[in-house]
Amino acid sequence: MVHRAVTVLGATGSVGLSTLDVIRRHPKRFSVYALTAGTRSEELAALCREFHPKFAVMADPTAAQKLAGLLADLPDVTVLSGESGLCEVASAPEACTVVAAIVGAAGLGPTLAAVRAGKRVLLANKEALVMSGKLFMDAVAVSGAELLPIDSEHNAIFQCLPAEKIRDPEGAGITRILLTASGGPFREHSAEDLLSVTPAQACAHPNWSMGRKISVDSATLMNKGLELIEACWLFNTTPDRIEVHVHPESIIHSMVEYADGSVLAQLGSPDMRTPIANGLAWPERIDAGVAPLDLFAIGRFHFERPDLLRFPCLRLAAEAFEVGGTAPAVLNAANEVAVDEFLKGNLAFTDIPVVIERTLSATPVAPADSFDVIFAKNTEARQRAREQIALLTV
Ligand code: NAD
Ligand code: MG
Repeated sequence: MVHRAVTVLGATGSVGLSTLDVIRRHPKRFSVYALTAGTRSEELAALCREFHPKFAVMADPTAAQKLAGLLADLPDVTVLSGESGLCEVASAPEACTVVAAIVGAAGLGPTLAAVRAGKRVLLANKEALVMSGKLFMDAVAVSGAELLPIDSEHNAIFQCLPAEKIRDPEGAGITRILLTASGGPFREHSAEDLLSVTPAQACAHPNWSMGRKISVDSATLMNKGLELIEACWLFNTTPDRIEVHVHPESIIHSMVEYADGSVLAQLGSPDMRTPIANGLAWPERIDAGVAPLDLFAIGRFHFERPDLLRFPCLRLAAEAFEVGGTAPAVLNAANEVAVDEFLKGNLAFTDIPVVIERTLSATPVAPADSFDVIFAKNTEARQRAREQIALLTV
């Protein structure tokens, strides 16, 4: 059994807590090297008391000061702050595994630091890959980092592929990837009903318990759009070879179709601890604390095509990938700003795709030839998205 020291970026979030629950079950196999969070110092302090990391990092400097005060009686935990602290623990030689579970573009810098340091990186932070695509995968190839997807769909695809041909779909005889989607809480809403849905309704996902941003992304189908782009980069394929299947039961987490007609699927309860445990222990299998799947209780599986008229975000994401360059980074930035404003009650649900489409039109595409370009476009697109929101809400 290999002992692994783990850094959890975004430890107080939904994926972070699921990761720590798997680690908690295997004290001999895993230790915690560092835990990080954005602003929630009390929650991070409680996790430090349980897991005794060497480092605890708050992105927010004021929250870091507060955390240092809360942990004054634990001198073995060093408190750091800001992006530099996040990157320092993500790349430290003492930890071999980094769980990238910060939400949004804020995760790109620290996730990249882990990649460049050649870590085993368990990727939940899909936004980082969507923004920087080829540059990110090139950095993985240069450093020899072991990139393991823990987004449930991508982990399912990963499990259905031959290990030595993860990035060679043709060589593996793959004809299509069937990417499953729950359809979100508004799958059966009419276009008219969608006009008045609230943040609380959008965050009440029928199958998964997740952070607020990804819950809204699931409701708009932008999550599937981001995942389409994520799958293209991870598995070296193109959107025309990926077909989204809405599968409301969320038991089949995705499928891979081969030239001989075989379709391999990975099934499981909708519980992130399964893909997380798969990544943490890979290639071994460990207990994730997940109840066995009861197919008799589930009874039936359903499949339908996504409705791109009611849920245009999936189309916008596919188009941004085709445009290439900085377009996916702009799509992601506009989505983050629009979702944030929707969650604050300042923007209608149906205006989220409007803001994204107008921001994409208003932001010139540049070649994505450096991370500096990506970070600058992210900042520019956020500003332009705010301008579009101001125009919509006057
Ligand atoms: P969450 O909102 O529950 O947690 C986000 C974490 O990131 C928290 O620990 C928070 O403190 C930290 N954070 C937020 N802003 C930060 C900042 N500016 N700097 C540093 N840290 C910051 O989110 P989540 O649902 O756990 O999702 C995390 C990531 O995993 C997202 O990219 C999401 O798309 C992806 N993901 C989530 C799930 C899921 O089931 N929740 C499934 C697949 C993929
Ligand atoms: Mg997913």
